[in-house]
Amino acid sequence: MESVGGVDFPRTYQEFRDWFPDDAACVAYVERLRWPDGFVCPRCETPKGWRIGTGAFMCAGCGLKTSATAGTIFHRSHTPLSTWFAAMWFITSQKTGISALALQRQFGFGSYETAWAWMQKLRRAMVRPDRSKLSGVVELDETFVGGRSTGRMGASTGKVPVMIAVERVDNRKLGRVRFGIDSAPGSKEQIAFAQREIEPGTHIQTDGARVLRRLADLGYEHSYATGYNSPDISAELPGVHLVASLLKRWITGTLQHHVTVEHLPYYLDEYAFRFNRRDSKSRGMLFYRLLQQAVITEPTTLSDLYKI
Ligand SMILES: [Zn+2]
Repeated sequence: MESVGGVDFPRTYQEFRDWFPDDAACVAYVERLRWPDGFVCPRCETPKGWRIGTGAFMCAGCGLKTSATAGTIFHRSHTPLSTWFAAMWFITSQKTGISALALQRQFGFGSYETAWAWMQKLRRAMVRPDRSKLSGVVELDETFVGGRSTGRMGASTGKVPVMIAVERVDNRKLGRVRFGIDSAPGSKEQIAFAQREIEPGTHIQTDGARVLRRLADLGYEHSYATGYNSPDISAELPGVHLVASLLKRWITGTLQHHVTVEHLPYYLDEYAFRFNRRDSKSRGMLFYRLLQQAVITEPTTLSDLYKI
C-alpha cells in the first residue's frame, strides 16, 4: 500500500515536531513500523504477547521479553531515541546529505568519532534488500573513485573501480541507479553485477568492452558504441558519465574527507539512496524510508565499524 505523507510519516519539520514530542512517541512509532499488524515474537514468531512497558512486550509463546528497538540499529544505544530521530530528520532533510562534522556541530557530540559512527550506522540502513532490479534502457559503465586504505599494511593510495548502472527514462531523464565495486578494472565482476542489478530482457548500453559482450548471451539486449562506430565517443553513455561526476562531487564536497576503500560501499549506498529518491515530493518520505530500514537493520558495534 502506498505510504501517505501526513498519515504514515511527517511531511514537514513542524509535523515532525508535533509527531515526536518525546521518546515515548518515537518508541510507539518504531513499534508501529516493526509490528504493523501487532506484536510478533522475533524468536518463536508467536503473534501474541503482553505489553509490559512502552515498546516492550513479553511473548505469549516462549516468554521472551523484548522491545521494539531490540535487534535494530537503535539496540543498546545510550542515546535517547528522540535524538536518533532528530539526527535522521536532519540527515534526510538536507538534499545532498551532510558530513559527520556537520552532524557533530548540530548535535553537540563530544567527538568527531561519535558523529562519524552515527553516520556509519545510519548508512547501513540506506539500502533496500527487497529492491527491484533496474529495467527499460540501462547504461552500464565503470569509473574510478579516489580511495585511501588504512589497512594493517599502512595507508596506500589507489583508485577504486566503481561499477555504475543507471536507467535512461528518455533522452533527458534518468531513473534509478545502482553501484558496485569491481575487484579489478574491467573484470568479469561486471557481468555478475549486471545480473544482480538488471532485469533480464533489459536493453543495456555499454562501451563494448570485450567482457561485456557476453551480456547478449545472457538474456539482455546489448548495444554499444566504440570509437569505430560512434561519431563522438565522448557523447556516448551520458547517463553514467553524469552520475559518475555527481558522485565524485558529492564525495569531495559533502563528505569533506578522504573516503577509505573499506567504507566506500556504504558511501555508495547513501548516494544511491539519495539519488533514487531525489524526486520525492516530501523530504519526510526519505526519513520514513530510512527509519523503515533502520528497524530491520542489525545493530552494529563500534568495533564492527572500524574492523572492516
Ligand atoms: Zn516467543
